[in-house]
Amino acid sequence: MQIFQHTLTRTVSCTGIGLHSGRKVNLSLRPADPDTGVLFKRSDLPGAPLIPADVHHVVDTRFSTTIGVDGVVISTVEHLLSALAGLGVDNAIVEVDAPELPIMDGSAAPFVFLLKNAGLTSQARPRQLYRVQREVSLSEDGKTVSVSPGEGLSVDFTIDFTHPAIRTQRLGFKLDDKSYAREISRARTFGFLSDMRRLHQANLALGGSLDNAVVLDSHRVLNDDGLRFPDEFVRHKVLDFLGDLALVGRPIQGRFVASKSGHDLNNKLFKKLLADPSAWQLVTPSQEEPTPATAGQARPASGRVGQVSAA
Ligand SMILES: [Zn+2]
Repeated sequence: MQIFQHTLTRTVSCTGIGLHSGRKVNLSLRPADPDTGVLFKRSDLPGAPLIPADVHHVVDTRFSTTIGVDGVVISTVEHLLSALAGLGVDNAIVEVDAPELPIMDGSAAPFVFLLKNAGLTSQARPRQLYRVQREVSLSEDGKTVSVSPGEGLSVDFTIDFTHPAIRTQRLGFKLDDKSYAREISRARTFGFLSDMRRLHQANLALGGSLDNAVVLDSHRVLNDDGLRFPDEFVRHKVLDFLGDLALVGRPIQGRFVASKSGHDLNNKLFKKLLADPSAWQLVTPSQEEPTPATAGQARPASGRVGQVSAA
């Protein structure tokens, strides 16, 4: 884990279509000051209002994660947030001219490509991360999700579908400098042809197609090129989970275990965790110990934290 916060070295942009509208969306990712976090900016609206990426601003989790403030919303934030967190970006402005992010190819790989083009810059402010201190769990309708203390960040995810092309899949993922791009980012979202027809009739998912999702009929995968991983489905669930988790606003150290969980239950767990201060401590990666407000003064000036605050 890097000690210092990171932002983008330069602004990068791309264009794609919105999953729900099927319309063109322009996206720019811009550098931001330390302690900004990730801010979404709706450049198509008067005054270009800002929506902070924050678990308390989640307003809808039915098809994707939507966040909003005062009625201004931005949808399908989880794939980009997943890429930002997976690559270790703390601070960024995400500017879009639509109420949803572009779906790209349904994975986070195009965002990883963009972020690698932007480059990352270390900032003169140490990170603070949540270190989980005790177990917090939730279950609902046969779905479960929990977090317990653990080294680094790991996610153990299980899905269980009756569909013959999916069945039971389980993935244990541990985040390090390279693992996100290699193991998770390329996994695409997936959907069933029957659901897509129903959504289209309801004027939803108008942009959804074989170009931005793995689509299954009742027997098999319909995409000509097949799957990117034999277990692409559970990998995408981990991708989504990391995107939802990014809404806690800081890196987190803990061991997550999820079974059949989705955006709604994920968000409930993260809120439950944050609401219980006895379940976590704020630490900096250099110290690996709690950082009360006085910690900076108590540490010798030669310590890493002291050097940063003097810079
Ligand atoms: Zn997804």
